[in-house]
Amino acid sequence: MATKYLLPEDRLPTAWYNIVPDLPEPPAPPLNPATGQPAGPEDLAAIFPMDLIMQEVSAEPRIDIPEEIQEIYKLWRPTPMLRAYRWEKALGTPAKIFYKYEGVSPAGSHKPNTSVPQAWYNKKAGINKLSTETGAGQWGSALALATQFFDMECLVYMVKVSYHQKPYRRSMIHLWGAEVIPSPSDTTASGRAILAGDPESPGSLGIAISEAVEIAATRDDTNYSLGSVLNHVLLHQTVIGQECLAQMELADAYPDVVIACVGGGSNFAGIAFPFIGEKVKHGKDVRIIASEPAACPTLTRGIYAFDYGDTAKLTPIVKMHTLGHDFVPPGIHAGGLRYHGMSPLVSLAKEHGLIEAEALPQTECFEAAVQFARTEGIIPAPESSHALASVVRVANECKESGDEKTILFNLSGHGHFDMAAYDAYLSGNLEDYAYPEEKIKAAMKNLPKVG
Ligand SMILES: *Cc1c(COP(=O)(O)O)cnc(C)c1O
Repeated sequence: MATKYLLPEDRLPTAWYNIVPDLPEPPAPPLNPATGQPAGPEDLAAIFPMDLIMQEVSAEPRIDIPEEIQEIYKLWRPTPMLRAYRWEKALGTPAKIFYKYEGVSPAGSHKPNTSVPQAWYNKKAGINKLSTETGAGQWGSALALATQFFDMECLVYMVKVSYHQKPYRRSMIHLWGAEVIPSPSDTTASGRAILAGDPESPGSLGIAISEAVEIAATRDDTNYSLGSVLNHVLLHQTVIGQECLAQMELADAYPDVVIACVGGGSNFAGIAFPFIGEKVKHGKDVRIIASEPAACPTLTRGIYAFDYGDTAKLTPIVKMHTLGHDFVPPGIHAGGLRYHGMSPLVSLAKEHGLIEAEALPQTECFEAAVQFARTEGIIPAPESSHALASVVRVANECKESGDEKTILFNLSGHGHFDMAAYDAYLSGNLEDYAYPEEKIKAAMKNLPKVG
């Protein structure tokens, strides 16, 4: 009775899986934020290297992973897939629960799977400095790690409220050699505009993105790097699901249900897209669930429309599920899930019924996470706990029906830097919050008018 499924190195993926040719329709092209016209590669060249732009628009089914990147991946990949026997027992479910654990990376989440290739392609293009934003600090630390590997500089705009609440992620970013500035800041025009309207602004991902993009767009030596949402980011994360396909073979099993949490959609796409590929190409039926916070219900209640990726309207306009680019999130603890938009590819998969989505209140998520930590040992990231809560719901359905379903979920990271959130939960100080409908309606009035 094996618990842990490890892949030999010679079975590691050597190419990333691109879902685009397997989708029923091609994704809508991104639009230039100034003109509203389709954005060509030139429009993106001010902030991204051409190799990543070509990946962004690629319709190739597979894209080879450069050998140097494969070598760095081996520092933490393959990540383990485990069977959660002890949690199954505690849940009293006949379901078989498997989980892929991405928390073994140096930064503690799935994010280095894309920060490393992004830094590598920029370095190859002669760029020596990257700017980016970070919410709770997971992405900032992952990019700091990657730029450190390639001897590059890194400038991180960190959402101000997290900058003060999460000092240890900030320390990690510093330790890996990057500079951190709390956002909104007076170092950019977009930051100064926000501060003029509200000197006490807690910041948001949308604002921090504006600052980081502005720096990259106005400096020749600096490019911008995004940790989720974009097609090339999701592409890099597909090493997760490809490893799972091979590990499921080792376990002599195949999932009936695949579950992951969604912020911008990258760890979800990473585990789920290769399974959607199997479904489209080989008819292997699988139910796929994206789990999001009720406080930031982008996929379940957001509108599918063209919107900006940031507050200052500097990024391309993309078609996605959105709560509006001026969304300022309520202070829930899953910092990594507080973005107003959703990856265009995940949004498209949802529109075509290839995936489902559900919104979960945070106390239900923490309850699942604590039970998991007490049975399996690992303390999940608050973001990942949304996937766990969805697993519990399916496991309970199985308990009622007697179905022995096989569930696979992505444990996207550990929660070692989120103990304040666990303290709040354990002392009964966490409240549930559903994002109000009026706010969604109001934000829709500010969507860009296109077409
Ligand atoms: C950033 C993060 C997420 C959310 O981002 P996605 O792009 O939706 O994956 C989820 N889990 C962890 C641990 C994260 O760090």
